[in-house]
Amino acid sequence: MKTNENSASKHLSFEVFPPKKEGDFEGAYKIVSDLAKLEPEFISVTYGAGGSMSKKTIDIASYIQNELNVQAIAHMTCVGSTKEDIDKLCSELETHNIYNVLALRGDRPKDMSDEQYNNREFIYATDLIARLKEKTGLKLLGACYPEKHFEAASIEQDIIHMKEKQDMGVEAFITQLFFDNKIFYQFREYTDKIGITVPIHAGIMPVTSAKQINTSISLSGSSVPKKMTDIIAKYGNSPTDMYKAGIDYAIEQIIDLQKNGVDGVHIYTMNKPDIARQIVEAC
Ligand code: FAD
Repeated sequence: MKTNENSASKHLSFEVFPPKKEGDFEGAYKIVSDLAKLEPEFISVTYGAGGSMSKKTIDIASYIQNELNVQAIAHMTCVGSTKEDIDKLCSELETHNIYNVLALRGDRPKDMSDEQYNNREFIYATDLIARLKEKTGLKLLGACYPEKHFEAASIEQDIIHMKEKQDMGVEAFITQLFFDNKIFYQFREYTDKIGITVPIHAGIMPVTSAKQINTSISLSGSSVPKKMTDIIAKYGNSPTDMYKAGIDYAIEQIIDLQKNGVDGVHIYTMNKPDIARQIVEAC
């Protein structure tokens, strides 16, 4: 297993999503192979809402772990799963030598009825964490939200639940994407105060097209600072300039985070290794 202790990208990690279509695995393998060459600390693989695509998540994570020799983190959500589903999934992970899981609740799938939702077996990510701790030896990570989770009454309440995850054995956190480092530094003050001591990997998404703001970013609920809206206003209609300006923005953010002692930076690559490469080279 690569530890990348001496590599330039020691504190950088990447997120990828599995192929949407069944036949696209070769393309996905190529993407993660290109990312592996950048020697990240780890590569995480997302999980489809409600448990769809779990097989694809495992396939890609297995390729990363076993063929590329890079630490793989499999995302796992529980909102649409039974305890038996989760146990089965864990056996599959074990079969594939995958030992790291980002334990998530997930969002309610669109096709889930009220009855199914109200009777679900896992209410919060902490219920999944409890199950995984009881049944497996997996290393667990959790999600956190510098601008608070959309359901939380306050950032303080949200961080109380984050602390519960740490107390249950979560060994690191990955944040929701954010564009304003000041928000992250304020968040770190709160987490320090409540006693979060495990590493927090800052989630950074390079915005390389104006369209992205309307899709993944609006879904994340992250605020878009004026500096970013100015970039979109200026370059939004020029794909090449927008691409470059978006990468430059992410690089600036990451360099500032590194100067301020961030534990790690997790790049939401959107399956674009070239963007990740430019960031790694610059940072
Ligand atoms: P939780 O930690 O359960 O939190 C959900 C809400 O409940 C929060 O408001 C929290 O404050 C509150 N809460 C938590 N515990 C308790 C408690 N014990 N009592 C009362 N309230 C509580 N989604 C996917 O479908 N697939 C993915 O691959 C995926 N990857 C992600 C990766 C990262 C880094 C992040 C930040 C998010 C990801 N998501 C993914 C989205 C995630 O599933 C949603 O944000 C979801 O709404 C919350 O998941 P969670 O694990 O943070 O939930």
